[in-house]
Amino acid sequence: MELFEKLKRLSDAFGVAGHEDEVRETIREMAAPYVDSCEVDPLGNLICYRGEGPTVMLDAHMDEVGFLVRWIEADGFLRVAPVGGWDERLLPGHRVVIRARDGRKVKGIIGAAPPHIVPREERRKTVPLEDLFVDVGAGSREEAEGMGIAIGSPLTIHYPCDLLREGYATGKAFDDRVGCLVALEALRLTAADRLPYRLVVNFAVGEELGLRGAKAAAYRVAPRVALALEGTIGADVPGIPEAKQPTRLGKGPAITVADRSIVVRPRMVEFLERIARAEGIPFQYKLPVYGGTDAGAIHTERGGTLAGVVSVPCRYIHSPVSLLSLADLEATIRLVVGFLKRAEELLG
Ligand SMILES: [Zn+2]
Repeated sequence: MELFEKLKRLSDAFGVAGHEDEVRETIREMAAPYVDSCEVDPLGNLICYRGEGPTVMLDAHMDEVGFLVRWIEADGFLRVAPVGGWDERLLPGHRVVIRARDGRKVKGIIGAAPPHIVPREERRKTVPLEDLFVDVGAGSREEAEGMGIAIGSPLTIHYPCDLLREGYATGKAFDDRVGCLVALEALRLTAADRLPYRLVVNFAVGEELGLRGAKAAAYRVAPRVALALEGTIGADVPGIPEAKQPTRLGKGPAITVADRSIVVRPRMVEFLERIARAEGIPFQYKLPVYGGTDAGAIHTERGGTLAGVVSVPCRYIHSPVSLLSLADLEATIRLVVGFLKRAEELLG
């Protein structure tokens, strides 16, 4: 399967934080040929194991930002609460997919009052999230319930993954399905190597709600070294000065020096730089200090872990649709494969 096809499979899977079942089954199937075993912990993390010895951990989170149905109006419209951080300015007018109790997918639209009726001044304002409503075409609460929708049903804005043009993919949930794909490809490309350690790959739940899954998984597997894999903030767009662009598309994998959850030890940063230079992989630094990642939870668990973060730049994360460069994705995979082949050096 081509890299884009794999990305599409992961991106299109449903996985709002707390409801990661569908994406977990997709990943389990993709990982199975390249690992010794997989388990699902009580939180829903998918933890995959290969080899023996001290533990080196890769982590990528399965969950995506979304919403939960918080109320069903008598006339069938849904009110929603956010799961993870959304930019409220961007929500009205988008298509959503709701996962019903029985797993059915229900389509909907985030509605808005007609501009013909709304006074001019109101039209300039952002509609607060609590005033938004979702239209599923139901005429009453009973009809909405009959479609499988209940209080707590998860939903998210859904645009199918597609090529914008050759080499540039667009879709939902690149944060962090792209990290999941990097982990899966790194597993596949090192399957024939006899790595002198136990490789544990955690596909985490609940990152968007505060690094919840990674914390529990790190306690369970007690890594000596860990690398979190992310799709991170690409901000090379008009109106943003270069000094405020955490990462830029087309410049290769982003190595984190510090974000809001971790200051990466220079030993790890230098190790990643060295691999990139040795392999001729272009790279950039993720400018401090924006965002947080699972590495923040992992590095302080147990007796502490030497942890780092490598990310694929993605424009428009935490908005309805994201954009990435497949060349950046491929370069990130190469960097992580190089990391795994040399990670033994960090165990000393
Ligand atoms: Zn993320």
